[in-house]
Amino acid sequence: MTDLAKDIQENQTIFGKILRGEIPADRVYEDDKILAFKDIAPKARVHVLVIPKKHLQCLRCATAEDADILSHMLLKVPEIAKKAGIDDGGFRLLTNAGPDSGQEVPHLHFHILGGEKLKGLNG
Ligand code: AMP
Repeated sequence: MTDLAKDIQENQTIFGKILRGEIPADRVYEDDKILAFKDIAPKARVHVLVIPKKHLQCLRCATAEDADILSHMLLKVPEIAKKAGIDDGGFRLLTNAGPDSGQEVPHLHFHILGGEKLKGLNG
């Protein structure tokens, strides 16, 4: 078994279950490093989550070793937004990291929000 396969098998978060196919997700994009799927409780008309297959708890846990995964996630965002139909209007990209941010799922994820005029960051 590869290190990544073992990592996915041991991932106890809800996103680990999605990666293993144990619970369904509305998948938008997948490759060997990342998965993108629709958020189950969308905060905008279109709300997609992008996760690495490797289990990083949040951005704070990433190290220089993860530079390839992080750059891959970022560079794929426009393509994922296009697949979700929100490339023309644009989108917002955000990530929560740690308790003060309100992060609920301890597996790094980027939120892509769009499909409508979004409110300012202060509501
Ligand atoms: P955060 O608060 O940044 O940790 O965001 C976690 C996000 O995961 C929230 O927007 C949830 O709605 C979303 N979420 C939780 N469970 C699922 C699921 N099973 N499928 C899709 N999205 C989920």
